[in-house]
Amino acid sequence: QKPVPSDIEISRSCVAKPIDCLAREVGLLTDEVELYGKSKAKVQLSVTKRLRNHPDGKYVVVTGITPTPLGEGKSTTTIGLVQALGAHMKLNVFACVRQPSQGPTFGIKGGAAGGGYSQVIPMEEFNLHLTGDIHAITAANNLVAAAIDARLFHEATQSDKALFNRLVPLTGGQRKFSPIQINRLKKLGIEKTDPSALTEEEITRFARLDIEPSSVTWQRVLDTNDRFLRKITIGQSPTEKGYTREAQFDITVASEIMAVLALTSSLEDMRQRLARMVVATSRSGQPVTTEDLGVSGALTVLMKDAIKPNLMQTLEGNPVFVHAGPFANIAHGNSSILADKIALKLVGPEGFVVTEAGFGADIGMEKFFNIKCRYSGLRPHVVVLVATVRALKMHGGGPTVTAGMPLPKEYIEENLELLEKGCSNMRKQIENAQHFGVPVVVAVNAFKTDTEAELDLICRMAKSAGAFDAVQSSHWAEGGAGAVALGQAVHRASEAPSSFKFLYDLELPIADKIRIIAQKIYGADDIELLPEAQHKVELYTKQGFSSLPICMAKTHLSLSHEADRKGVPTGFVVPIRDIRASVGAGFLYPLVGTMPTIPGLPTRPCFYDIDLDPETEQVNGLF
Ligand code: ADP
Repeated sequence: QKPVPSDIEISRSCVAKPIDCLAREVGLLTDEVELYGKSKAKVQLSVTKRLRNHPDGKYVVVTGITPTPLGEGKSTTTIGLVQALGAHMKLNVFACVRQPSQGPTFGIKGGAAGGGYSQVIPMEEFNLHLTGDIHAITAANNLVAAAIDARLFHEATQSDKALFNRLVPLTGGQRKFSPIQINRLKKLGIEKTDPSALTEEEITRFARLDIEPSSVTWQRVLDTNDRFLRKITIGQSPTEKGYTREAQFDITVASEIMAVLALTSSLEDMRQRLARMVVATSRSGQPVTTEDLGVSGALTVLMKDAIKPNLMQTLEGNPVFVHAGPFANIAHGNSSILADKIALKLVGPEGFVVTEAGFGADIGMEKFFNIKCRYSGLRPHVVVLVATVRALKMHGGGPTVTAGMPLPKEYIEENLELLEKGCSNMRKQIENAQHFGVPVVVAVNAFKTDTEAELDLICRMAKSAGAFDAVQSSHWAEGGAGAVALGQAVHRASEAPSSFKFLYDLELPIADKIRIIAQKIYGADDIELLPEAQHKVELYTKQGFSSLPICMAKTHLSLSHEADRKGVPTGFVVPIRDIRASVGAGFLYPLVGTMPTIPGLPTRPCFYDIDLDPETEQVNGLF
């Protein structure tokens, strides 16, 4: 077999269809498409109205066994499967994937456009700025951060009356409330629209958000792995008169605004979610929102283009939506609802939309069902669970791997014993998918060192664990042609009966919902709410947020909360350190241990290899 060239070489060797041609092919009208150069376009939301009464296609979610540093290939399989269904089985298809953060592209992981002969192209466009959605989120997020600290400062340094006069300035000899300020008055129960009619007590209540500085949960963001911004002190210039505060930067994709983008269903809905975001608590215990800060309209303006899904293509010319990329731990790690919905209409009832859920089935898929599907109302027909020989061997007790060192022989030579032991993890993840009543097809993503006996063993084990089917797939080395068996299995599974159900009822108490996830999905004995988490349960219940779905922030490297426990750990109690709320996005996220919200750069980051050829303007070194 010929060696497979690097991802960027493959990506560059392929002549992409002009994106306007692809848009026409998939049934979009000229007016619905906004071109960003030749290989990317945004799709206007008006298409959702035009296709409102059209039937949806089949909905497939790609997930995986518990990830290992060896990589499982979920993105690669998502693209390979779409290429098989589309280019080889001649069905209407769409892939829906997340936009990657630039942090990992220049840091440790590299690109995320798939790999080998199953990629989204051009991969450099995909991995870098795309159409600027992440930049828009950075701008919107940091406007909120600036608004919070400016407000804290102005409230601390001005009297009630002076604050009020500045918030409602004289224009043409009269004071007038803005529409956002009228919303705030309504929320405060003040039924007045004439500023001069407010009593002194009402002026104080209106003018002061009275934010408790230590309660601010909103952080600044940027899309770079800059570890020295994990903890900072702001306000150190003398102009801020000593109002310093400890704060932090998160990576942009961890911003709640990214999660809002991924979960929203329309411009109107996005405006409401952007207004509902809770940034702090007032001294009297009330949630302070972006609407209270007066910034929600401006946020919607900054996000008005980001809400439109981005159209790109696979190496074999199939359509791909690249839209939203929320962090998979403190957020839900799935691409946008809007992209999936539009794609389902465009492919029609015989077509397939393949969407990807980040991390393993215990995290990305659980959140896909319990959060994303709850908000979208969509019901998937098939779960594709990606497994690899190498990763399962690690779950069976194989040695750890060190970056920059050769792979231990266990991963290169046949070892059926280790593999069989590791299949326990796949069995548990199949069970996890079955909790939701959707048929599971296991895709064994073949690596060139795998043996036939090993690939067969996984397929047998998967079927005996209750998978609808299990097939090996060589889409990385062969493109869509290598995933036709997988495509056929998915096609058959999509016609099998399914009986979708959620894992928990939203109206259950917060702790019960967390316990159900921990016991049923992770296999834990129980959960333990530490004091801060207990306090938040009480606070959120009092504030009326207890019926939000749960978004667990747990390590993805183990079914348990301890990253080094591979396979199927048993006999553990999941400690819940704290719980935070993303009220605008619409979930509560319990923190199991500490979650880094901005990665750092390693000794040798990916950017060492990246450069531009000034002659050809080609980007080199991305992978
Ligand atoms: P995930 O989505 O699970 O994080 P990706 O699809 O991004 O995984 O793949 C991770 C890395 O592994 C990519 O660099 C990809 O090119 C590589 N990869 C995936 N499948 C194979 C395979 N079968 N053989 C060799 N490399 C692969």
